[in-house]
Amino acid sequence: MSLPKAELHLHIEGTLEPELAFELAARNGVELPYADTEALRKAYQFDDLQSFLNLYYELMAVLRTERDFEDLANAYLARAATQGVRHAEIFFDPQAHIARGVDMGTVVEGLWRALGDSEARHGISTQLILCFLRDESAESALRTLEAAKPYLDRIVGVGLDSAEVGHPPVKFREVYEAAAALGLRRVAHAGEEGPPEYITEALDVLGVERIDHGLRCMESPELVARLVRDRIPLTLCPLSNVRLRTVDVLGDHPLPAMLDAGLLCTVNSDDPAYFGGYAGDNFDAVRSALGLGEEQLRELARNSFVASFLDHDEERRTRYLSEVEAYEFG
Ligand SMILES: [Zn+2]
Repeated sequence: MSLPKAELHLHIEGTLEPELAFELAARNGVELPYADTEALRKAYQFDDLQSFLNLYYELMAVLRTERDFEDLANAYLARAATQGVRHAEIFFDPQAHIARGVDMGTVVEGLWRALGDSEARHGISTQLILCFLRDESAESALRTLEAAKPYLDRIVGVGLDSAEVGHPPVKFREVYEAAAALGLRRVAHAGEEGPPEYITEALDVLGVERIDHGLRCMESPELVARLVRDRIPLTLCPLSNVRLRTVDVLGDHPLPAMLDAGLLCTVNSDDPAYFGGYAGDNFDAVRSALGLGEEQLRELARNSFVASFLDHDEERRTRYLSEVEAYEFG
């Protein structure tokens, strides 16, 4: 739990706990179709990615003002701090908010009110990654990137999330080229529910530096060899995989085999309010369910900083890495 780690796959909208959802609903006069937090928590049972996404988008209705986004981010950072997170690269989904009449500025400025103070207040350095919704059109993604231009000093990169199957990476070639031209880093969800070919395409067509999830790479030995050779990081989310039925039980998770194969794996929480745990909870869960030893856990923590976008501050990365090496397991 307290092992120093970076979180590289975290959707800020997926940190909305039922209690905060009701608090924001009351503040904004939004009616939620659930009697109380208990009833809402019961709805956090999913059959697959789509059933989760339906609730995820429904609950976003409570996020209206800068202060709402600030409160959301502060709640996440406070919890992450208790789970050993020292650095967080946070995804947000502006299209889901713009579609509800909440503009880019409200989202970014609101999040920034929390992120700007995060180091002093929570001891966590942060970066922001703008994600495109892959089930929306390529034109919508381009418009979203355009709307983000006034805020690029606060955004380190772009990502691609939401419903994967049927929305291959190639659909977003143009917007990724535009993002690269703006100096933005590039990541994408691939190989969660979608086939290994989507991972290859994200690398070749979108030029991504990290793959989010990527666990279906294990179906292709050639792809595994390439990911190992090129040291492409994978941001795995074990508890998410169980909740969304990508794996049946945590004990079946391919993480140990992926580490044995030499893949640069990291462990993250994805949408922790919905999937039953934050970053440290995910480390704890893989330790007990998969029997990972101290050196494997240390490797996962080390990988998280190696894979992070801290290239502008190598001194900080070195400091975090030495914290990992010095960590003593209790
Ligand atoms: Zn995700």
